Amino acid sequence: MSITFINLVYILAALLFALGIKMLSSPDTARKGNFISALGMLIAIIVTLLYSGLDYKWIIVGGVAGAIIGTLAAKLVKMTQMPEMVALFNGFGGIASLLVGWSEFHMYVQPTSAAPSTVSLITIFLAVLIGGITFSGSLVAWGKLAEILNSKPWLFPGQKIINALLFAGILAAGALLVINPVGNYPVFIGIVVVSIILGVLSVVPIGGADMPVVIALLNSYSGLAACAAGFVIDNNLLIVAGALVGASGIILTNIMCKAMNRSLANVLFSGFGATTRSSKKVEGEVKPISVDDAYLILEAAGSVVIVPGYGMAVAQAQHVVRELGELLEANGTEVSYAVHPVAGRMPGHMNVLLAEANVPYEQLVEPQDVNPKMELIDVAIVIGANDVVNPDARDDNNSPLYGMPIIEVDRAKTTFVLKRSMAAGFAGVDNPLFFGTNTRMLFGDAKASITGLVSEFKG
Ligand code: NDP
Repeated sequence: MSITFINLVYILAALLFALGIKMLSSPDTARKGNFISALGMLIAIIVTLLYSGLDYKWIIVGGVAGAIIGTLAAKLVKMTQMPEMVALFNGFGGIASLLVGWSEFHMYVQPTSAAPSTVSLITIFLAVLIGGITFSGSLVAWGKLAEILNSKPWLFPGQKIINALLFAGILAAGALLVINPVGNYPVFIGIVVVSIILGVLSVVPIGGADMPVVIALLNSYSGLAACAAGFVIDNNLLIVAGALVGASGIILTNIMCKAMNRSLANVLFSGFGATTRSSKKVEGEVKPISVDDAYLILEAAGSVVIVPGYGMAVAQAQHVVRELGELLEANGTEVSYAVHPVAGRMPGHMNVLLAEANVPYEQLVEPQDVNPKMELIDVAIVIGANDVVNPDARDDNNSPLYGMPIIEVDRAKTTFVLKRSMAAGFAGVDNPLFFGTNTRMLFGDAKASITGLVSEFKG
């Protein structure tokens, strides 16, 4: 098949990607957008298989292995494990780009091979560097999300200097490689190893509440690595797709930084909340409430704000939450859902769950819209959220969360907090909300508690 034809089809696929991404910006069109982008990818794969001189044997092996792993993952990975899965996907994107760079390099240094161009060597270096950092950084992020690794920042003396030296060293090694690739295979291996070490070292100092920024940034890196790999193998579509992922990841990173009220440099280099800051021990009286009593208060409420968090995802309570919302509305209560941008364990986590449960998009409100009228809200129902409603983020400048805008449910007339225990959230800090005079703790699994409330409403 002619290269011109293949490239023309690639342009069509790239347009479908861009259109699909555009449609993801609204929940009404998001599903169709996803389908259109997937169609673009299908067309791209088919036309790529028409390149002449391909060895189909290895493509089939890779395709079958990938399909088996993908099917197993789709069947076995629980919805609550999606954030970890996304982190792993970023990492696999990174290692794939690294391996593409490595295989091209290996080919170039064969005695029979023609001398590679400087541009080729630079792009190989970038694919390996960014791919390696993305791979190991994503594995650390996965470990933190899966709570296999401690989510607290991990700092050691001289960390920044060591990172800077490693980075300077890897750039020098890259320059050496570009000047003389053939005699420098060990230098190449050194670049692979150091890029993997750099990935680990750049994610371990980032802790708890800052992980959303890291996830978005690693997503962007995986796109940039793919883009570099596209240059390495001279594939226009990979360049475009990688650039789209890279750019959208950067936009998301920016959104997440704004949600945390922090600059990117501050998130990446400050080790915020590691050793110097520790939140005070919160003390006071906890006032539990039963489902029956909570129902009586809700039944009389004129306005209710529902604040979902990670616990709603764990409990898979989104469908009963929507049902409760509908019953409250039928009872004459004004209902809205306040979604914090970093609630849950991945960007957009709560939006996805609420959309899955068909909660009307118009009922979703942002923290900055609901906070000014919080004093007028009769009941705020916090469903498995913790860090995103922690008043210390506003009031205690020693708190690791300090500065992050929160949903200020502590200012509502009454606040119900639905969780199983007094345990801390992802950032690992106590929450004075639970001891507030207006707060009632509805202990138990969120789905069970909400189901109880729904049954009360249904009489
Ligand atoms: P948190 O992690 O702060 O708190 C979740 C709460 O849910 C816990 O306190 C837990 O308490 C409760 N919970 C767990 N399971 C259940 C259940 N079955 N029923 C009822 N409650 C349950 O969640 P938030 O959403 O408030 O905050 C998200 C945190 O995660 C932030 O720190 C954010 O920075 C971080 N993060 C966010 C990412 C993102 O992209 N959105 C990515 C990575 C990290 P208990 O055990 O007592 O039930």
